[in-house]
Amino acid sequence: MNKEIYVVLAGGVGAAKFIEGLTKVIKPEKLKVVINTGDDIELFGLQICPDIDIITYTLASVIDKKKGWGFKEETFNCLKVLKTYYNTGWFNAGDKDLATHIYRTDLLRRGFSKVEVTKCICNKLGVRSELIPMCNEPFETIIETPEKKMHFEEYYIKYQCTPIIKDVIFKGKHSAKPVATVLNYILDAKKIIICPSNPIVSIGTILSVKGYRDTLKQVKQKIFAISPLIEGKTVKGPADKLMKWKGLDVSCFGVAQYYRDLIGHFIIDIRDAKYKSSIEQQFKLKTYAYDTLMVNIQKKKNLAQFVVDL
Ligand code: GDP
Repeated sequence: MNKEIYVVLAGGVGAAKFIEGLTKVIKPEKLKVVINTGDDIELFGLQICPDIDIITYTLASVIDKKKGWGFKEETFNCLKVLKTYYNTGWFNAGDKDLATHIYRTDLLRRGFSKVEVTKCICNKLGVRSELIPMCNEPFETIIETPEKKMHFEEYYIKYQCTPIIKDVIFKGKHSAKPVATVLNYILDAKKIIICPSNPIVSIGTILSVKGYRDTLKQVKQKIFAISPLIEGKTVKGPADKLMKWKGLDVSCFGVAQYYRDLIGHFIIDIRDAKYKSSIEQQFKLKTYAYDTLMVNIQKKKNLAQFVVDL
């Protein structure tokens, strides 16, 4: 038993902000980060894991904070040539970032699992928390639009989240297996925190892997989720569109509705404090209002400390 560990469920940008704060208020070694791999994609023959990389680079302090992804002080020379060869222009990856994708692809081809490769990259970059892909098996989030089915990254980057969503398909979910150590961490953890990430295609993806949801339900009272929606809007990304597709209210109330069977506690933004009593009454969740808009490192630390202290 290790009552000192914290497990967090994470997507990319929203999660990385919170996790950066969390590693400043608890020892990074105590943190186990389970990361969505539904955004993973093969491009230029390389295995790219956008959410894992965002969190790795954040904790390694090499992230480009302005963009929210990739390395800081990046150049894009290799990509220019790749775009000529492959005749495709929508995906962005800088020279240093491509080095990660080459290294990952090399190790995967040599037979290492995604969990092992992630651990290796984290060790090399000096990340002290444990970052764990949600599964080793291939998994892709596909968005079906009236015109065609496309990878989530294509929907997000190439089409800027504009097409109408007809369906969301978790390709690979039937063969995906939960990572055994994560199941043990969930049972042992002091707290489990669901980051302010996209509920449907970051957290929902993790939950779709058989085994996680049932294990989490056993420890409902130590699970805390943070709303990614503030005043009915996303800070970034298409969570609002996906919530609408799912038939949920586009607000922290809708997020609470989505997580209600799973969590015991819910943190909403202070600007949404008016929802506190309705969420508590309707979904029987202990609800707390706090400033969740993480615009600088102090705000990230404050939110993390608030959740740790609850
Ligand atoms: P992605 O995979 O890169 O889209 O990242 P995530 O799934 O982790 O995060 C996307 C969600 O994070 C969006 O719904 C945003 O509204 C939310 N988000 C980003 N920054 C913040 C913030 O500072 N506060 C809160 N509450 N949510 C945020």
